[in-house]
Amino acid sequence: MCCNTGRVSAYYRYMTAPDSPEVNRHDVLIIGGGLVGASLAIALDAAGIAATLVETAAPRADAQPSYDERNLALARATVNGLAAIGVWRHAAARATPIRHIHVSRSGEFGSARIDADKQGVDALGWTLPARELGAALLRRLDECTRLTRLAPATLAALQPMAGGWRAQIKTADGMREIDTELLVGADGTESFVRTQLGIDVERHDYGQTLFVCTVTPERDHQQRAYERFADDGPIALLPLAERRCGLVLTVAADEADAVATMDDAAFIELAQQRFGWRLGRLTRLGKRHPYAIHRVAAQQLTGPRAVLVGNAAQTVHPIGAQGFNLGLRDALTLAELVAAATDPGAPELLARYAARRASDREGTMAMSHGLVRLACLRQPLLAPLRSLALLACDRVPPLQRALARRGMGFRGEPPLAVLERLP
Ligand SMILES: Cc1cc2nc3c(=O)[nH]c(=O)nc-3n(C[C@H](O)[C@H](O)[C@H](O)COP(=O)(O)OP(=O)(O)OC[C@H]3O[C@@H](n4cnc5c(N)ncnc54)[C@H](O)[C@@H]3O)c2cc1C
Repeated sequence: MCCNTGRVSAYYRYMTAPDSPEVNRHDVLIIGGGLVGASLAIALDAAGIAATLVETAAPRADAQPSYDERNLALARATVNGLAAIGVWRHAAARATPIRHIHVSRSGEFGSARIDADKQGVDALGWTLPARELGAALLRRLDECTRLTRLAPATLAALQPMAGGWRAQIKTADGMREIDTELLVGADGTESFVRTQLGIDVERHDYGQTLFVCTVTPERDHQQRAYERFADDGPIALLPLAERRCGLVLTVAADEADAVATMDDAAFIELAQQRFGWRLGRLTRLGKRHPYAIHRVAAQQLTGPRAVLVGNAAQTVHPIGAQGFNLGLRDALTLAELVAAATDPGAPELLARYAARRASDREGTMAMSHGLVRLACLRQPLLAPLRSLALLACDRVPPLQRALARRGMGFRGEPPLAVLERLP
């Protein structure tokens, strides 16, 4: 597998050292056990830190809202990170490698292709249904020895106190109070923690709905991920097992009801018209799942003895497949800093966290937003420029290498757990 470098194993040894002086001295309360909160809880447990994880949904993959049918494109760095915290061994068998990426725009010349072998790696990333990643996280959570899990349980109120926060948690057995030195909001796009901290957000409604489902194309996908832009929004096809593909089709929000009620033949026709015939006829449509798309960006990542991670910190358009990839880098950076500190909520630690996340976060959010704006603008004058940009990404090796590295999730000042030596 890919995460076999000295740096990563050194990190893992450090994180799991049983006689670490920090063991059980840190007290971290994580609100939200979605993909990012669960990953953070596991990373902290591996570092010997006693954390508590509070999640509204029951601990079953079918109960958790985001452990659903969306197919996640996991960047190479993400898989390194999941392997370092012991999650990937529970998921690897169900993941499909992405060895090639093909980006194009309907009606315009030029396309960009990135190939794993040209970048000197076995895969650029992997595709995995969120349901399978959720199941792997739950299995790994069951192995944690220092973690306290409360689920189903919901954060109902917060009070500031000297040196931390007092949280009122609603459980099936009544209300519980938990005091913590560091409160982590991993509670998703409409974060209650963020609101309680008084952190403002910047919102953008893309006026788009995504439909997610599986299809089986006539021709083998050959582990190639496709992203195709069009005036009406992007369409993506991600490689899955058994020759299936995960289809992501974007439509304008005011057309969503009509698309939702289309019969399968009409929906396939629409997907075919938007994607084209590169993989031949699309067949065997799976169940369709709609998602309304918004961008929500917190104006600050931290408050007094509190920090936001994952979608609570930033929710981005799924077009660039960046949300969880970015959120995992939040979680692993935070775990790394907490593991090396004596006080997990110290202002210097939180300032360091915000500084370390800034460039990755801003760059990834700008890229996801810019991609949607540029790719979907109905601007005929832009067409030649767009085509030239795609051609440049395809033909100019340094540009392609830079793009590939970012696409593989090696951005900003990454957490040690995701690193490896790339050619
Ligand atoms: C269609 C689609 C496709 C996507 N594709 C990709 C992709 O290819 N690659 C990628 O990297 N990302 C992708 N994403 C984004 C990714 O799914 C999200 O970024 C990720 O799920 C965010 O995880 P999270 O844990 O931060 O938030 P969430 O998954 O929203 O989890 C938040 C959790 O907090 C819990 N909670 C909320 N309030 C409380 C409370 N008061 N008390 C206790 N618990 C609470 C909720 O029950 C929930 O389980 C996609 C998203 C969509 C919609």
